[in-house]
Amino acid sequence: MAVFVQFPDDNWNPNDTFWPSTQPPRVLNTFFDQQNEYPSGRHNVSNYFYQMSKTNGSANQFDVTGEGIYIQLDHTRDWYVNNNKQIPDINKDVLLKLDQLDNNLQRFDNWVFGHGQQNHHPYSDNKLDMVYIIYRNVYRDNDSYRISLVPKRSGSNNWSGIAGLDYSGTLYLPNNNISAVGGYMTGNSSGITIVKYRRFFDDPGNRYLFVFLHEFGHFLRGGVHEYAS
Ligand SMILES: [Zn+2]
Repeated sequence: MAVFVQFPDDNWNPNDTFWPSTQPPRVLNTFFDQQNEYPSGRHNVSNYFYQMSKTNGSANQFDVTGEGIYIQLDHTRDWYVNNNKQIPDINKDVLLKLDQLDNNLQRFDNWVFGHGQQNHHPYSDNKLDMVYIIYRNVYRDNDSYRISLVPKRSGSNNWSGIAGLDYSGTLYLPNNNISAVGGYMTGNSSGITIVKYRRFFDDPGNRYLFVFLHEFGHFLRGGVHEYAS
């Protein structure tokens, strides 16, 4: 599932074509195909993996479907700065709010992490499978929030996305009796964090899929960057 998150003080580019302020993004219900419409052929995350997993005339090998939800946080970025909380803590607030808004998160628990990467089994384990946490804007309008809210990873806090939920340990969601695993893709993380979405550099449709596909690709291919980006 994709959780699209906005801070209440975010007024960056209010008429943004991808995601206007104080509203869900325009792609809320089309970011993934839902199961009953797959494959829709829309240019979205589902279509990308549908196309990329075709092999020599045979059918696609990798099906990605999902749902979107929009959340506005209770606290401003200044509140988080003043309380010494950064993206890993804010991710926890997002997940706890998701737990309050949705009483059926069990539908996103269909896989068990197997023995290492690329080895999963189709059973429930009371752990969320894959949650994209996508922030509308953390620091595009004020770079000081990048310094104060985005932790350094691999020596830099200038990252757009990270293949994990970025906190240590596991967060229990009491309303749904399910857990969201922190950490990164190497360890069974329940999701991905995106603080700055970006469009494909060569995409005339401005489809903004670049970071979304990149971070999910780490779960499939590991931590390497075999190409320039
Ligand atoms: Zn990467």
